[in-house]
Amino acid sequence: MEFKTTGSDYHAAVDAALPSDLQPGEPVLVSACVLGQEVRYNGGSNLDAELLAALRARGCILVPVCPEMLGGLPAPRPPAQPPGGDGRDVWAGRARVLTDAGADVTGAFLSGARQVRELAARLGVRYAFLKERSPSCGVNRTHSGGGLADGPGVTTAALLELGVVVFPARSSS
Ligand code: SF4
Repeated sequence: MEFKTTGSDYHAAVDAALPSDLQPGEPVLVSACVLGQEVRYNGGSNLDAELLAALRARGCILVPVCPEMLGGLPAPRPPAQPPGGDGRDVWAGRARVLTDAGADVTGAFLSGARQVRELAARLGVRYAFLKERSPSCGVNRTHSGGGLADGPGVTTAALLELGVVVFPARSSS
């Protein structure tokens, strides 16, 4: 599923693309920044009001997660990404995550991914809606090597391994 429609078509497209078996009262993970929490690296949010409205209309319980802050990083914080590859490589120990200044924040990214994965397992989460392009939460595309690479972020890779179905929330960038 791609949430790429813009403007007034977006809400209808999101609603139509949601899993048909979503149950009222079902917990779903949502990137905290997509819920409007100011947890991004620049201290801002990525509120996606249409997605939230569609999920609330289905009666889902929205569980906010910000893996980078769960991993101990502050907001704001220096932007960071792998020098190459994607989150699957980081999750598997084949790549690191570095800030622009070269500080190694791999441990924080992995810690956050593990905590989100454990939460998903504990709650029996089937679906997650995470912020596209983020090196943690990206689903189809992630920042890597100074550009964008195909593939998931670190937390998304951890959730996919668990069997959670992850959908990309709208990107504001
Ligand atoms: S994309 Fe994920 S890691 Fe980045 S601010 Fe949003 S919730 Fe946190």
